[in-house]
Amino acid sequence: MIIVLRPDATEKQINHIIERVKKLGLKPWVSKGVERTIIGVIGEEDTLRIQPLEVFPGVEKVMPILTPYKLVSRNFKKEDSHIEIGNGLSVGGERIITMAGPCSVENEKLLIEIARKVKQAGATVLRGGAFKPRSSPYSFQGLGEKGLKYLAKAKKETGLLIVTELMDTRDMALLEKYADIIQIGARNMQNFNLLKVVGQSKKPILLKRGMASTLKELLMSAEYILSEGNFNVILCERGIRTFEEYTRFTLDISAVAAIKALSHLPVVVDPSHATGKWGLVASCTKAAVAAGCDGLLIEVHPNPEEAFSDGAQSLLPENFASLMQDLRKVAEAVGRKI
Ligand code: PEP
Ligand code: MN
Repeated sequence: MIIVLRPDATEKQINHIIERVKKLGLKPWVSKGVERTIIGVIGEEDTLRIQPLEVFPGVEKVMPILTPYKLVSRNFKKEDSHIEIGNGLSVGGERIITMAGPCSVENEKLLIEIARKVKQAGATVLRGGAFKPRSSPYSFQGLGEKGLKYLAKAKKETGLLIVTELMDTRDMALLEKYADIIQIGARNMQNFNLLKVVGQSKKPILLKRGMASTLKELLMSAEYILSEGNFNVILCERGIRTFEEYTRFTLDISAVAAIKALSHLPVVVDPSHATGKWGLVASCTKAAVAAGCDGLLIEVHPNPEEAFSDGAQSLLPENFASLMQDLRKVAEAVGRKI
């Protein structure tokens, strides 16, 4: 249920409604828009039949939210959400935020070398996994806290923000300390305990779409995070599994437009995991920018042959730099900056 307030509703009237909603055992979420405030009401909506809220001063109308996701929905908030990530940057505004770096953090020297190069090319966030979700238990599993320390060092050297993956609720304190953006990987999109834990944080969360998940399921997972109180959620399309085998996954470009229609949350595209092939990354990145994405997540490695993970889809730093040049033109054509 959403309560739409009149444009001239006073603070006192708003607080009164919030108190009443709480007394009914429901959870109110206030969203202050440019023109008017709306209050999302989560909980057993039947209660509102006994206590109609239309009668309260300041209320214009009360409407049901028909989708199963509520706080995430465009009905709840008309304006695009801008998620502040640090360094005065936000995801969801005019500027497309580029997150780039290796798949895995491998060693300090290499990470700093990559960080310098992606920064020079125009990236503002360094990516790199310290905890790696690998299909095989025999594959490199990540450096753990040591990897996080290298990320911190790279941040100190370059000023780049850090996005890195959380796989286990027990590592949340570490991620709070080292990450500017906490990534929830595709394989954990429906790890509901993990979603609840990051929901209790204030950190921006990059929630990747599961490879076999519908957009509705992605938005329901985001709802878990928002319903715990963390509205700083960035969604990520990273390719889904289809019958096509040439690419690692299939990049669902329509997800960008669909998410924009269904939700106020920003959407980032990861063309690296979606294609699995570095030679396809540039075209898919341009398509993502043209489609209206708010950010990019791109794997970059100076020696892909030797990469501990995902070498085949990693761009050489020089290819990343020339892609960033090309993207400026595409971004400009759709009224964005990169
Ligand atoms: C990653 O970003 O390195 C990663 C493992 O991505 P995904 O969860 O999308 O497979
Ligand atoms: Mn990877």
